[in-house]
Amino acid sequence: MEKPSARRHPIKNIRAFRSSLLRWFSENAKSHPWRETTDPWAILVSEIMLQQTTVSSVIANRRFERFLEEFPDIEAIAVAPEEKILRAWEGLGYYNRVRNLQKAAQFVLHEFCGNFPSDAATLESLPGIGRYTAGAVSSFAFDRPAPIVDGNIARVLSRLLDQHQAVDSTPGKKAIWQSADKLLDPKNPRLFNSALMELGQTLCTPRSPSCLICPVRDFCKTETPEKLPVKKPRKKIIAVEEHAYLWIQGDKILLSPGHDSRRKGFWKLPLRTADECAHLSPVSKHHYVITNHKVTISLYREKPPHLISGEKYHHLGDLSNLPIATPIRKILATLL
Ligand code: SF4
Repeated sequence: MEKPSARRHPIKNIRAFRSSLLRWFSENAKSHPWRETTDPWAILVSEIMLQQTTVSSVIANRRFERFLEEFPDIEAIAVAPEEKILRAWEGLGYYNRVRNLQKAAQFVLHEFCGNFPSDAATLESLPGIGRYTAGAVSSFAFDRPAPIVDGNIARVLSRLLDQHQAVDSTPGKKAIWQSADKLLDPKNPRLFNSALMELGQTLCTPRSPSCLICPVRDFCKTETPEKLPVKKPRKKIIAVEEHAYLWIQGDKILLSPGHDSRRKGFWKLPLRTADECAHLSPVSKHHYVITNHKVTISLYREKPPHLISGEKYHHLGDLSNLPIATPIRKILATLL
């Protein structure tokens, strides 16, 4: 792929840079449900939901609309039981996100009388809200001049400015946030941030950026976009072995409540140690990946397990209403 050389610098020619980007966005902006609203609660939901879930998946399954139908405002989620919010988030993964959404809603209700603050610094004081999300709510809901940097924007900016520091290192992050702040159009923060994000999603893509049709190619300093952004070496994948009972009596199945931070509030198959299962033969083995863990789970049903704290039988017909982590639900769906 041939990339045209930059003739102008994005910061030294900042007005021309901004207007090229905004003109392109006004003609090419994709319509998304979260772009149709300036309600800070809806914007916050979309931002949290899109943090680890792709736009196409959220759109295809109407996850954003369905979540807001169930929790249309902060009052609705503030009083909801945990089981209900986990069920509404099921399949999206990273469940602390929805727990934090509830805590943030409760915080706004109690500390700000139900009115979302509009400036990014105050928004960052809400539980679970980092600098990116605070800037997104401030700029998208209130059109305030707050920069944002997500993965797409970090890629675009590192290419535009030919930055070779790792974008996930402390100095690299600092440099990218400074660039986002300098380039932001203070007159059009909502549109500018959306445009930069969309450029990263549609043209300035990770593997094959479309530089020849890019609206800011004239300002883009890198000669080697496919080598940017630089990132720190990846974490190693850790192999994990799990041993669990698939114990069914009549129309009931034995489940265990999750206790660790990742599975708290979710029901799972009752786990046992490798030693406890050493004399048993597994009926099946399954594999799933979660963050940097590659899990192999062996299932046993040779003899009834001794019940341990919190484990209980649930009607098979109730499984669809219980919060169950997606990999375990998929395994159950193949077996039951
Ligand atoms: S697509 Fe990305 S790398 Fe290519 S010219 Fe545009 S900003 Fe630069």
